[in-house]
Amino acid sequence: MRGSIPGYLRPHVERIEAYRREISLDLYLRSSGERTVGDRTIHGRYPELNDGRLFQTALEAGDLTYARALLSMFITSRLVDANDHLVAARLGTVVAYDGGEKVPIGRALAAWRAASTDDERRRIGTALVPGLEQLAAAQRQWLDEYGSIRAALRFRTQSELVSAVYGDVRAWLRHAETYLASTRDGFLREAAEWQRRDGRGRTTTFTAFPIRGVPLPAGAVASDSAVRRTAATWGFGAEAQRIPIDLVPRPGKLAGALCGRIDPPRDVRVTSQPTGDSFEYVLLLHEFGHGLHFTVGPDRPFDLFGDDQAITEGFGITFGTVASEPGWLREFAGVTFDDESLARMRFGDMLSARLQAIHVLYEYKVFSGAIDYEKEFVEIYRRETGIEISPHLALTRMLFFLGLQPFYALALYQAYGFRDALWQRLTEVAGETWYANARCHPLLADLFRTACERDLTGMFGTLNAPMPTAGAPR
Ligand SMILES: [Zn+2]
Repeated sequence: MRGSIPGYLRPHVERIEAYRREISLDLYLRSSGERTVGDRTIHGRYPELNDGRLFQTALEAGDLTYARALLSMFITSRLVDANDHLVAARLGTVVAYDGGEKVPIGRALAAWRAASTDDERRRIGTALVPGLEQLAAAQRQWLDEYGSIRAALRFRTQSELVSAVYGDVRAWLRHAETYLASTRDGFLREAAEWQRRDGRGRTTTFTAFPIRGVPLPAGAVASDSAVRRTAATWGFGAEAQRIPIDLVPRPGKLAGALCGRIDPPRDVRVTSQPTGDSFEYVLLLHEFGHGLHFTVGPDRPFDLFGDDQAITEGFGITFGTVASEPGWLREFAGVTFDDESLARMRFGDMLSARLQAIHVLYEYKVFSGAIDYEKEFVEIYRRETGIEISPHLALTRMLFFLGLQPFYALALYQAYGFRDALWQRLTEVAGETWYANARCHPLLADLFRTACERDLTGMFGTLNAPMPTAGAPR
């Protein structure tokens, strides 16, 4: 966050930058699979930043932006053991199906996803259950550990912590509810149609993302070239050259992709992997979009300290969305998809936005206290997506993000609202195919910099768009 730095934080700025550099590099190397175990010595070198006192000071001063960033340091520094246990549990969980030998659960899940018939899915799915139960037990342990870390800050429930660092979130909860209700019927109709077309019946789902990517035809442009050329077209060629893209397969590599903000604006790196389908472009445009934001926006690393995740993810989601545009696919990826494939990609985006709203409501319920979290999870997925999801996945997504921020689902949901406003503005400035010319450059460059200075409300103002929650019934 650029601008005047509060007195209590000023003496710590350089050490915060050094700490962030070490954490980010460690995270990047683990995600890219270049390092298999985390560096356990980092946090001990910065006790004055992660002992919780600076967090309390920021909270008392009402600086929620900094409070969230300092909270993240406190939680990360104390979760090292719990994270290691969870990773070990995941690697140690094996299942056998179809009379074959035992395989790691990750591979069995991939086989379940790739299954071409309901019958095959059912057979693999049945074999998956004991493994998932074992994992769920490890996840509950992680959550207990997280709870005691939070208790050390004197927050009894997660919803108390959320209100402390985000303020009142009720308007957003209502917004998510209204969004789901007003789009439910149309969504369920389309979901049923895709399920029918893909030959999927009512087998239990072991992934929250059952929509398939569209396979890339031979001759499709490699994703890293396509993405670099896009950035150059937007007038960010020089910055894009400085961002390395790692597509090397490694055994320990993260299933998704990551943009490491190691020493922004200088050292920013992207790691991903070719998936061979349309998601490959979505994923890489998203992460490379983060890369441009972190390279163009800040003057020094501290300018990104306490960045609003809703804005940051909003940029990533906007650029990922470009990959569903037929114009972009043709011009930058050398691919012409038929109407069904394009509709499939649009449905994938709609499902993705819907999942954020679902998780905002679901997780906040879990945060608020005693509910049957598995039953609730199955019910909300059934009601809002028509998917029969396994109760054993109830904690998976929530846990992944809890290690980063106390309520990441909210930021991701807000990010979709930000995407819509940003897309609208880009279209006004540079036309329907804004992504294929350089007229978007001044606006994007300005927004990347502005994002280091404003909160979400301020950014909506910059875009001349109302806050999505404005005017909502109280
Ligand atoms: Zn992202």
